[in-house]
Amino acid sequence: MGSTFQTVADLEATAEEAEALGERVGAWLVAEGIAAPGRDLSVPGRTAYLPGPRWSHVTDERRYPESDGLAVVTGRTVFFGSLATGGSPVCPHCATVVRGRESAYSDAMDAWWATGVADVRCPACGREVPLPAWEWENDFFAFAHLGIEHWNGPPLRAGFIAELTSVLGHRTRLLAGRI
Ligand SMILES: [Zn+2]
Repeated sequence: MGSTFQTVADLEATAEEAEALGERVGAWLVAEGIAAPGRDLSVPGRTAYLPGPRWSHVTDERRYPESDGLAVVTGRTVFFGSLATGGSPVCPHCATVVRGRESAYSDAMDAWWATGVADVRCPACGREVPLPAWEWENDFFAFAHLGIEHWNGPPLRAGFIAELTSVLGHRTRLLAGRI
């Protein structure tokens, strides 16, 4: 039996602001009674929050005392979605779905992981597009510095995602899948 996950990735937070913004999200979760500080995970860039009194605002999870709660993840991270569906890159300028160029993207992913910077040229419109700016079919990837994860629970409520997005003040992408 695998684990399911849902991640709200902040597509615009910079490496410099991610940590402070992650702390702001955590403070908001606690102030709203949505979550409570969790145990120290002793993992850099990962802060756990347990369900709070208003957890029903996040998801319809009846057995919430056993819930995994939320984790705020900061630092350069390749967030991915459902391996079952996969998804090809989509140019944010011309909306072309790029197929058959996996090696170009895989090289760019390696470079982004190593340096935080990588571009891939769109074969249709010719623009050099930063890797994090690409859209993905099925919201398969997000190359980001901040994400909020929920493991092993029912779907996150749309209202919660909207409020979280507004606290972040940035565009977000919801990635979901199973490992
Ligand atoms: Zn294009």
